[in-house]
Amino acid sequence: PLNELRDPALLKNQAYVDGAWVDAASHFAVNDPATGQTLAQVPNLDGAAAEAAIAAANQAWPAWRDKTAKERAAVLLRWHRLILDHTEDLARLMTAEQGKPLGEARGEVAYAASFVDWFAEEGRRVYGETIPTHDRSKRLMVLKQPIGVCAAITPWNFPLAMITRKVAPALAAGCPVVIKPAEQTPLSALALAELAARAGFPAGIFNVLTADGANSIAIGKVLCDSPVVRHLSFTGSTEVGRILMRQCAPSIKKLSLELGGNAPFIVFNDADVDAAVEGALAAKYRNAGQTCVCVNRFYVQDGVYETFVTRLAQKVAALKVGNGFEPEVQVATLIDDQAVAKVAEHVQDALAKGGRLLTGGELLKGRLYAPTVIADATPDMRCAREETFGPVAPVFRFHTEAEAIALANDTEFGLASYFYSRDMGRIFRVGEALEYGMVGVNTGLISTAEAPFGGVKQSGLGREGSHHGIDDYLEVKYLCLGGI
Ligand code: ADP
Repeated sequence: PLNELRDPALLKNQAYVDGAWVDAASHFAVNDPATGQTLAQVPNLDGAAAEAAIAAANQAWPAWRDKTAKERAAVLLRWHRLILDHTEDLARLMTAEQGKPLGEARGEVAYAASFVDWFAEEGRRVYGETIPTHDRSKRLMVLKQPIGVCAAITPWNFPLAMITRKVAPALAAGCPVVIKPAEQTPLSALALAELAARAGFPAGIFNVLTADGANSIAIGKVLCDSPVVRHLSFTGSTEVGRILMRQCAPSIKKLSLELGGNAPFIVFNDADVDAAVEGALAAKYRNAGQTCVCVNRFYVQDGVYETFVTRLAQKVAALKVGNGFEPEVQVATLIDDQAVAKVAEHVQDALAKGGRLLTGGELLKGRLYAPTVIADATPDMRCAREETFGPVAPVFRFHTEAEAIALANDTEFGLASYFYSRDMGRIFRVGEALEYGMVGVNTGLISTAEAPFGGVKQSGLGREGSHHGIDDYLEVKYLCLGGI
C-alpha cells in the first residue's frame, strides 16, 4: 500500500535527532497488523541515543525560547499547512501500520493538524499577570516561561494526534521536544518529523527516537532519569503510567498522563433511543474499539432496555467490516494477537456468566474481530472492570438514576463517560455526579482541540487541548519589585 504514496519522501527508515536523519546498529520491523506484511525497517535506538537527543534539545532550547511567540507560531503554522497538504499520504501510512479504516485515518490527520493550528495561536496568548500590591513600595508580577526540554511517549492507537496534542503546545510555549513513538507506529511519527523539518524547526527542537519494545523501556528510563528533561507527557496504559511516574520521582519531573479509561454509556428511559444508538456506534466502534474514550460498559434503564439492545445489535450487524484500505470499511483489524486474545477472553467470560450474544462474538479472519453486542451483562464479568479495547458492547440493565451513577463511578478509572437523557434536571444532576474528566451528554463524539481532554482518578493527570493544554509546558514565575 505504501508504493502509492504521492510523496515517497514521507516514508522514512531513519530516526530524526538534532536536525539530522540518523541510523542505528540494529533495526526493527514495522508490520501491517491486518496482513502481517513488513512495511519498513526502522532504527532501534537505545538509551545513548536518547541522551544525545536530550543534549541536542537542551542546546537548541535558548534560541527557540528567545524567539517571539509569533515567530514560533509561523513555523507551527507552516507545519500545520504541510500536514494538511499531505493528508492522503499520512492517512495511508497510518492505515498501513495501525490498521484503522482509511476514512478514519484521514479524520485523524485533520484532528492532529488542528492541535498545531490551535496551539500556534494559543502560544501568542500566554499572558502573565500584574497583582495588586500588599506594599506601596513594591510591585508584583507573574511571568509564564517555557519549562524546558519536554519528552513525549505516545501510543499506537492515534499515531499522529497523540504526538501533535503533546508537542504543539510544548513547541508553541518555547520548549524543544524529544518524542518516543509507539513501536507499532513509528512511520507516522517519522513522516511528521519530515514535515517538521520542511516547516523549518531549528535543529534539536523536534526529535523522534524510534525503538522496539525493549529499547523503548531503556529510552523511557533515560527520559525519566534526566534532570534536563523537565516535563514528560505520556499517553498509554495505566500500568506503564505508574512505572513512568515512579521513575520520574527522583528528578521531580512534571507529568502529563493520559491513561486507561473504562467509559460508561448510560441510556435513561427518557432518552431519544435512536440518537443513543447512533451515539453508541460512534463512541464504541471507532478504531475497532481501540481508543481510551471508547465505551466499555453500556448501562440501559429497564424501560428502554430491549428496544436499545435490539436496535443497537441491528446497526452493529450492518457495520462494514474489512481491511482498512477497502472503501467504506467501518471496522477493521485489531493491533496484534494479544489484543485479539483479550477481546476473545472478555467475550467468552461474558457468555459463560450468562451474557446473551446478539451479534458478533467471533474472529472473522486474521485479527478482524466481528463487532459484538452482548445483552444481560452483569458486574461479575471481566468487561465490567477491565478495559476491553475492542469492538465489544456489553449492555447492563439498571433501574434508578442513583444506581446508574453508582455503577458508572464504580471503577478506578475516570476518563470519558456518556449519557443520554432529555430531562434538564437529570442532565445537570448526572453530569455533575459522574466522576470523569469528560462527559458527553446526548453525543458520542466529544474530542476537539478547543476542549480540555483528560481524566480523573487513575486515568491520569493534566489536560491536553484547549487553553489549558499549554499550561503544563509553562512555569509560573513571580517577580517582586521593591524600592518603588
Ligand atoms: P498500549 O497498551 O496501548 O500498547 P503501553 O502503555 O504499553 O500502551 O505503551 C504506550 C507507549 O509506552 C509506547 O510508546 C510504548 O513503547 C511505551 N512504553 C511501554 N512500556 C514502557 C516503559 N516501561 N517505559 C517507557 N515507555 C514504555
